Amino acid sequence: MSKKVAFNTLGCKMNQYESDSLASDFIKGGYQVVPFEDPADVYVINTCTVTNKSDRKSRNSINKARKQEDAVVVVTGCYVDSTKESLESSTGITFLIENKRKNQIFSMVDAYFNGELKHINSEKDVFDFHTTDKGLRTRATIKIQDGCDSFCSYCIIPYVRGAGISRPVSDIEDSIKDHLKQGFKEIVLTGINMSCYNYNGVTFIELLTGILKIDGDWRLRISSLEPDMMDDKIVELFKHPKMTPHLHLCLQSGSETILKEMKRTYSYSEYREIIENIRSIIPNFNVTTDLIVGFPGESDELFMESLNACREIGFGHIHTFKYSKREGTIAAKLPNQVSEKVKSERSESVRGVAEELKLNYRKSLIGSNQRVLVEKYENGFCSGFGENYVPVSFKSSVDLNNQFVNVKLTELLSGNDPYLVGEIV
Ligand code: SF4
Repeated sequence: MSKKVAFNTLGCKMNQYESDSLASDFIKGGYQVVPFEDPADVYVINTCTVTNKSDRKSRNSINKARKQEDAVVVVTGCYVDSTKESLESSTGITFLIENKRKNQIFSMVDAYFNGELKHINSEKDVFDFHTTDKGLRTRATIKIQDGCDSFCSYCIIPYVRGAGISRPVSDIEDSIKDHLKQGFKEIVLTGINMSCYNYNGVTFIELLTGILKIDGDWRLRISSLEPDMMDDKIVELFKHPKMTPHLHLCLQSGSETILKEMKRTYSYSEYREIIENIRSIIPNFNVTTDLIVGFPGESDELFMESLNACREIGFGHIHTFKYSKREGTIAAKLPNQVSEKVKSERSESVRGVAEELKLNYRKSLIGSNQRVLVEKYENGFCSGFGENYVPVSFKSSVDLNNQFVNVKLTELLSGNDPYLVGEIV
């Protein structure tokens, strides 16, 4: 009987990409991937440390796995890199693996079951993750960059993931071609800070230009960029038919004062100009964002500036974080830290506005067409995501899984995540 492996992945898209690739290694090695709640022979917890809440979730997940007798427990990810010493004294963890050795997890676990001691190569390439198994996802995420040199005053990531490092252009193009050959039709580029991509002088824009020349009926999504790299050249690239009109552009705050304290490298007015510029070319362009509430010194007035900025931009989705003090960062030492109570209230206010804006954005698409990549077929309905990264469902007598279908949007149905309904064109 094949051995069972279960994953719990916390945090960013990059962790998700790395877990998917690891799961594919286990599948190729004859293992069966099961939900984290099910009994398994191996539990892999891919942790995150971006906020106090991520630390707590990582610890809870580790504790849950440690209770499973006889199971191999592998803990990896940013929480390991930031708290390795204290985790080393915990019992019940079989392997503690830092980010730079994460890609060796399958070979270590498999060697362990075979009674071998695997030598760990500490110099292993951080980009050496294999093609994701087609059965795991509809969209293929490709890692192009790791680390960050920006040192925003609140962020622990540059200390945990290290300096920015870019993946060779040919590796990225080969990986995309491999995934397309496997049948993937949507490619998502990911990295910790893709804006600083630079491989031997090849910039992110030049990388994109090359990628868009790869033949076939497929589309490209850029997960997240920093506003400081959004010049006219990149806006121009969004006109390419393979590019999807959606971008996660981290605002973090709508207050000029707070942005300066955060050591972000743009002002709110520059951010707004970028969005106006891109929407003057692609009117329905979907902008989603991250917003931090309760940064030290954020008064009620400065918070209102953030809330007004959200309304002014009209985001399709807002991911809100309560500011979390990360030891070792500049912001941890700033005066005027905001109380947890106020942070929670502000976070609730942003959530309310975010829901309203999401509804408005999705409603604005009614009457237009979306090219939907179908992910599911259930009860005579196909569902998936349109190019603007909005969920769409439509009636169909056949399962059109993994096919592009042009759908005219006719209404918005409310629910936990309101989705658009339409008819095949
Ligand atoms: S750009 Fe700023 S927020 Fe993003 S990972 Fe780098 S330091 Fe952190």
